[in-house]
Amino acid sequence: MILLSTLPFKTQKSIPSGSDNRGTGLLLQAGYIRMTLAGAYNYTTLGLRTLRNIEQIVREEMNAIGSSEVLLTALGAKENWEKTDRWNSVDILFKLPGAEWKEYALNPTHEEVVTPLMGEFIQSYKDLENCSMYQIQTKFRNEKRAKSWLMRGREFLMKDMYSFHRTQEELDTYFEVVHAAYDRVFERLGLADSTHYTFASGGDFSKYSYEFQTEIAIGEDEIFVCESCGQAHNKEIIDENSFVCVECAHTICDRRIVSESANIFKLGSRFSDVFGLKYQDADGQSKNIVMGCYGIGISRLMGLIAEKFADDKGLVWPIEVSPASHIIIVIGDHLDQAKSIAKLLESSGHAALIDDRKTGFGQKAGDADLFGIPNRIILSDKTIEKWGYELKKRTESEGIIIAI
Ligand SMILES: [Zn+2]
Repeated sequence: MILLSTLPFKTQKSIPSGSDNRGTGLLLQAGYIRMTLAGAYNYTTLGLRTLRNIEQIVREEMNAIGSSEVLLTALGAKENWEKTDRWNSVDILFKLPGAEWKEYALNPTHEEVVTPLMGEFIQSYKDLENCSMYQIQTKFRNEKRAKSWLMRGREFLMKDMYSFHRTQEELDTYFEVVHAAYDRVFERLGLADSTHYTFASGGDFSKYSYEFQTEIAIGEDEIFVCESCGQAHNKEIIDENSFVCVECAHTICDRRIVSESANIFKLGSRFSDVFGLKYQDADGQSKNIVMGCYGIGISRLMGLIAEKFADDKGLVWPIEVSPASHIIIVIGDHLDQAKSIAKLLESSGHAALIDDRKTGFGQKAGDADLFGIPNRIILSDKTIEKWGYELKKRTESEGIIIAI
């Protein structure tokens, strides 16, 4: 349990001016985040708990499909970025000057690290039976103009996963396994209904790339959803004058404003070829390796969820994302009872905040709404007179008395 009196972070009376959007404004007002510079945020205790919850959902679903968690270096070797021809072509690559006129990359993605790394472990076809790894790490983009919110940062938290396969067919099969795992992630985040698996323009090795686009009014992207089969298409693959569904050839569609929350790519052998990554087949022949990569923007999702579900009173977190399932407002001398309730909740897998601050009920009730915690408990002389506490859901207006 967390006692709010012990937190050194405070809420503000109103949304700070200059916020680019309501979600980020509310996160600032609630004291979840603070900006160091445009596109780089600090997470305070409640913000970090929210971020960790999103991270944990993603981690559990990646573990469930047999991917292995790793932590790769944030620093990248210039030689590797030159080998893949991306040192000069990736315009958002952060380049760091080091000692003795050396230069390094601050990695925005990790093909240049993970491919040579796996070269140290992959020899035979047997090593590629289940070869998938992921990390959850801070990434960097040298944006010219970063927006002042969590959605497009210079520094942000990502899950990136890489898989290595013997054949294109094996990659295709695994790709669908990852697709299904992503669907489960969006289900748990409360975003399943509003997130579309979208065909977008392809890279060098496949006709399409695949994005997960979440409907949100302030989104930066547009998709067209087939009215017949529901397949979503990024506007970049649509002929402006006439829509033809790539799945079913239907010609009527719905336009939606969206924000990209994840993407998955078939990389083919572009990176494995550059780093000389090969395997020996059963008959002793040396063969090429094909790769896939799979991203989810963890901090971006936090901004997106904050924006999407917020109401006129504040944040509204889905239960699995919320920094706590319950906030217990204590009025008067009932802290011990509040702690007992919190312990009971924790024993059944919930997490509780206790608002034991020496402030009036008005501020506590307002902050409980602002924080976006799904369940609010009030413990006061009045509720004790009724032999219990009041329980109210964040999205409802009336509470009920629960007997203690
Ligand atoms: Zn269709």
